Amino acid sequence: MKKIIFSILSLLSISIYAQNHTYWQQHVDYTMEIDMNVENYQFDGKQTLVYTNNSPDDLNVVFYHLQFNAFQPGSEMDMRLQNISDPDGRMVNNLGTKEKPIYESRISKLTPDEIGYQKIISLKQNGKTVKYEVIGTILKVTLNSPIKAGKKTTFDMEFQGQVPVQIRRSGRNNKEGVALSMAQWYPKLAEYDFEGWHANEYIAREFYGVWGDFDVTIHIDKNYTIGGTGYLQNPQEVGHGYEDSTKKLKLPKKDKLTWHFKAPNVHDFTWAADPDYVHDMKQVPNGATLHFLYKNKPETMENWKKMQDEAVKTMQFFNKTVGAYPYKQYSIIQGGDGGMEYGMCTLVNGDVKLSSLIGTMRHEMAHSWFQFVLATNEIKYSWMDEGFTSYVGTLASKEFSNNEEDTFIFDRVYKTYTYIATSGKDEPLTTQADRFNTNMAFSIGSYYKGQIFLSQLGYIIGEDNLEKTIKKYYSDFKFKHPNPNDIKRVAEKVSGIQLEWYLNEWVETTHTIDYAITSVSNKEIKLNRIGQMPMPIDLTVTYTDGTQENFYIPLQMMLGEKPTKANVLNTWSWGNPNYTFTTSKTIQKVEIDPSLLMADVDRSNNIYEVK
Ligand SMILES: [Zn+2]
Repeated sequence: MKKIIFSILSLLSISIYAQNHTYWQQHVDYTMEIDMNVENYQFDGKQTLVYTNNSPDDLNVVFYHLQFNAFQPGSEMDMRLQNISDPDGRMVNNLGTKEKPIYESRISKLTPDEIGYQKIISLKQNGKTVKYEVIGTILKVTLNSPIKAGKKTTFDMEFQGQVPVQIRRSGRNNKEGVALSMAQWYPKLAEYDFEGWHANEYIAREFYGVWGDFDVTIHIDKNYTIGGTGYLQNPQEVGHGYEDSTKKLKLPKKDKLTWHFKAPNVHDFTWAADPDYVHDMKQVPNGATLHFLYKNKPETMENWKKMQDEAVKTMQFFNKTVGAYPYKQYSIIQGGDGGMEYGMCTLVNGDVKLSSLIGTMRHEMAHSWFQFVLATNEIKYSWMDEGFTSYVGTLASKEFSNNEEDTFIFDRVYKTYTYIATSGKDEPLTTQADRFNTNMAFSIGSYYKGQIFLSQLGYIIGEDNLEKTIKKYYSDFKFKHPNPNDIKRVAEKVSGIQLEWYLNEWVETTHTIDYAITSVSNKEIKLNRIGQMPMPIDLTVTYTDGTQENFYIPLQMMLGEKPTKANVLNTWSWGNPNYTFTTSKTIQKVEIDPSLLMADVDRSNNIYEVK
């Protein structure tokens, strides 16, 4: 029995990311026309979706996301909020005390005119009515005739929406007073890839979309300024800071303006609108135009002005560190709830202190690379978008910090990871983002352990190779859907080091790293691997004459070595927990990994001093 289980498990672990065939991805072309009523927060929508099936399969069914439906009492999002031990504080009211909280789901209290919904009025495939069914936040469409491999089909949909009172991300009239934060607002086709359909219920997080081109027309009260995904096609008919001031405006004499946007090669379309937005612009030299849209409030105006030059510098830094931002425009918009990344824009909290506004801007802008151009499935691999984003965010913080001290920039990251790794609450990073037992395990796993995946990769393959890996990963996988095996393969190709073991141990298990110096006598050092996860070892030895020597012990299963100036010793195999070597001089002190980049959960046994 045991043997059978083992062989099934090993088959599963092979198939997690396997792509044995040539890469393909689906394609969408959306044309949408929206008529927004800013009085009752309802809108009518028409959507024409031309879907190209680039898969090798004939499709008999397609799925859309209807994510506004999550904001209704009794939805799966609501039920999860009511049952998780550590709900997102923004989505609940605390009826108890800080010490003894009693949480109430804010969704459970929404009245019919406060809920969110997307109602399908009609749906046709190639002009003929098709059968559909709404299951929570998913629309299941049973096709009249299959979409053959390699063929296109056209869906015409009429729908109505109501913008929910803001609970999380999307919504109306949030605590910062932003009228409309329009994320996940349209019926959005689910992605179909080599693994099949990804028609995930909207529970808390996150998103995965189909690459394509968007043509979106929004009719809205003329006093509202819009910011979002896409290039405005008719700036002279709109104004609001988008116009060419050397030319005449051609504003229609109506109560509503028509905003026409086009967004090429994106996988989402988001917008926000408010009658009190200030709209500023900044040009990144040889790069994108940055747009800033924020509420006209005297108390936060100065922060928003000061943040703008930081945004320019941040984009230049990411261009240099990862690769050139590929669009002509990026907008930083006060959405009034947390921070969330979208195509060519972000919605952020605006009523915050300057450091926090800059911090959120940096993180969300970094997502333009890690999620919006490298469009990982963040429901399955949240550690790849949150972790890699956090990694380059930490590099940016270091670059722009005034702190001259040479402190370990990942100190807080490693400490937070060590906390969960030794708490018994850690879960493998292969866990689907909504299915972690706690929000804490999701967050520390995705943001911290995901970030360490890269910083620690630098320890394994060398810093120069890590820098090359990040750039090559971007150039090889931009505008695609990279998965964990892809970053591993790039690192292998760049470094010549085998890394299957690293992806497996760090991502697919909760094994921890703990190496110890067990004894030092005269010129002999004995080391022990206590943790289950193996690693190569960097070691600094201080001799009794005061000189120092660096040693490097490659892990045998790497079948290669990182570039190093250290004295390279024999490899250490995983099967043997013990390792002994001798030095040329009498030893005073030994330290394992002075760089601190190896996530050793117990560093108390990493330093040995001869008394
Ligand atoms: Zn993030």
